[in-house]
Amino acid sequence: MQAPGGPLLSVDNVSLSFGGIAALKNVSMAAVEGKVTAIIGPNGAGKTTLFNAISGFYRPQSGAITFGGIDLLGRPMHARSGYGIARTFQNIALFSGMTVLENIKLGSHARLATNVFSASIYLGWADREERALTERIDRDVIDFLDLGAVRDHATAGLNYGVQKRVELARALALQPRLMMLDEPVAGMNPAEKLEMAGYIRRCVEERGMTVLLIDHDMETVLGMSHHVVVLNFGSVLAAGAPDDVRSDPGVIAAYLGDD
Ligand code: ATP
Repeated sequence: MQAPGGPLLSVDNVSLSFGGIAALKNVSMAAVEGKVTAIIGPNGAGKTTLFNAISGFYRPQSGAITFGGIDLLGRPMHARSGYGIARTFQNIALFSGMTVLENIKLGSHARLATNVFSASIYLGWADREERALTERIDRDVIDFLDLGAVRDHATAGLNYGVQKRVELARALALQPRLMMLDEPVAGMNPAEKLEMAGYIRRCVEERGMTVLLIDHDMETVLGMSHHVVVLNFGSVLAAGAPDDVRSDPGVIAAYLGDD
């Protein structure tokens, strides 16, 4: 168990190449417990590759990735959720015919103590567990993220910003230690971006979540993050508090100037 305020996730000297393309070159960074850490950088900088390496989709050729003291690179991809890592994806991945509540409950079912076999024997017990799950999600997730008005609506009819919030809700419902958010404000209008940034900050400030996110939108990201890591051509160009990154001449030259 790491110290409070220390790194929950550590990436140390990770390198990953696709054939001749070096997508990550000796990348080191950390996600600090109870904070929002953002990875930014222009197209092709290596953000998605880094996320996929942490998630276990890709295997780096060298380096280490540890989460709460566990060596993630030695573990299968599916083990990540059991360790407390939840992830959202760049493109909305909701079941459009299902309601908001049903979408949020998906995934949380895997954590119920009753499995399909025992449920067939102890139907009453499974029923109680299911009701307890719904109550918890209503209270801790749907109310918390102001989704009560659309709880029983099919996600297909919801506007884009609300659909992205349902994805955040689904990750939060897993009660993870780390939420990895892949472009959480991409494609949103300015009002939706601000609103989403507020919800992400609330997850951290009121629920003690640790968030690691990637996004293109510099200003929104700098406004909602405690720590920022800037990638450029697969290497860490700068890392620090948003104000330090914003005023870093190398970052201005490489990114902010042409954003
Ligand atoms: P974007 O902001 O456009 O999503 P990014 O910062 O996420 O960019 P990556 O998608 O990680 O960047 O790409 C880093 C480099 O690795 C790029 O040169 C890209 O072309 C290359 N790359 C990424 N995935 C693959 C792959 N599966 N096969 C080959 N090359 C890849």
